[in-house]
Amino acid sequence: MPLEDWIAQLPKVELHLHLEGSMGPQTLIELGRRNRADPTELARWAADLERRNFRFGNFQAFVEAYKFVAGLLDSPADYALAGKRLVETLAAENVRYAEVTLSAGMVLWKKQSLEAAFEAAAQAAADAGAKLGVHVNWIFDAIRHFGVEPAREVLRMAARYRERGVVAFGIGGDERRGPADLFVDLYREARDRGLHTTAHAGETMGPESVRAAVELLGAERIGHGLRAAEDRAVLALVRDRGVPLEVCLSSNVATGAIAEASDHPLPAILREGVRVTLNSDDPGLFGTSLEREFRLAARTFDFSREQLAGFVENAIAAAFLAEREKSELRMGLESAA
Ligand SMILES: [Zn+2]
Repeated sequence: MPLEDWIAQLPKVELHLHLEGSMGPQTLIELGRRNRADPTELARWAADLERRNFRFGNFQAFVEAYKFVAGLLDSPADYALAGKRLVETLAAENVRYAEVTLSAGMVLWKKQSLEAAFEAAAQAAADAGAKLGVHVNWIFDAIRHFGVEPAREVLRMAARYRERGVVAFGIGGDERRGPADLFVDLYREARDRGLHTTAHAGETMGPESVRAAVELLGAERIGHGLRAAEDRAVLALVRDRGVPLEVCLSSNVATGAIAEASDHPLPAILREGVRVTLNSDDPGLFGTSLEREFRLAARTFDFSREQLAGFVENAIAAAFLAEREKSELRMGLESAA
């Protein structure tokens, strides 16, 4: 079987995927039409993104684009559309399980009802998932540079929705303006409330940010973490603590963290024995998908099928799921790999 077909049929797991950033041009244009944004303007914006090959040049430009697309989500029906479309895409790519991040901090910042937004998205995703065989759980993300108080509200809501599939609390955004030490108490509280924890780190800042996320926050997984590779001691720390890195190749190129996928320190990270998962992050904004990320990784680093299946295995192990569900996913993977 050709490699591309093999990757396509592989039952996959995605752990780092934002609802807002998952929306492709078609969904954005549809939302724009609903919300009386200018569809021509939106189509031009999408075409421009494509012309630039989905590269934003720097993190700030990406944040602006993210705010723009998140701004198009206006009503609960919009969130429902985003949730449904996301699950349809996952199913088409043979993603059997996903932990989807909702930028809860952004919903609150927009002064929208987080209850209404989440319930609509979660219901639509669950309905589509039941039909298509995709299981989705949720991560509520606070925006670290907005500070502690809004993050506290995100945590409160995450805990409230544990029964509705919210499995973890995390932080994303500007690492410099929202340092980890601000969130130590919140992470402790998250654990006390039975939530798992993640943190974006080592994306816009160096290895010290990854160290802080692990040592101060006790984050169970690190989003990106690529700059941990600048300090072998930090790589050893994440390896020894068993903290997996959620690697997102196209994302790092798109936000300017690296110039090309081949510049990603993935081989060095793997050589140190760190567990890695492959993810698409904001596939709509980056013109990618999990399947494409697997193909890109295979092409760039010449990974074997065994290594590629290993990334899925790592994602199953790192998922915030009960052991019974993990073994079901493992069985599916074994029969396809
Ligand atoms: Zn992310």
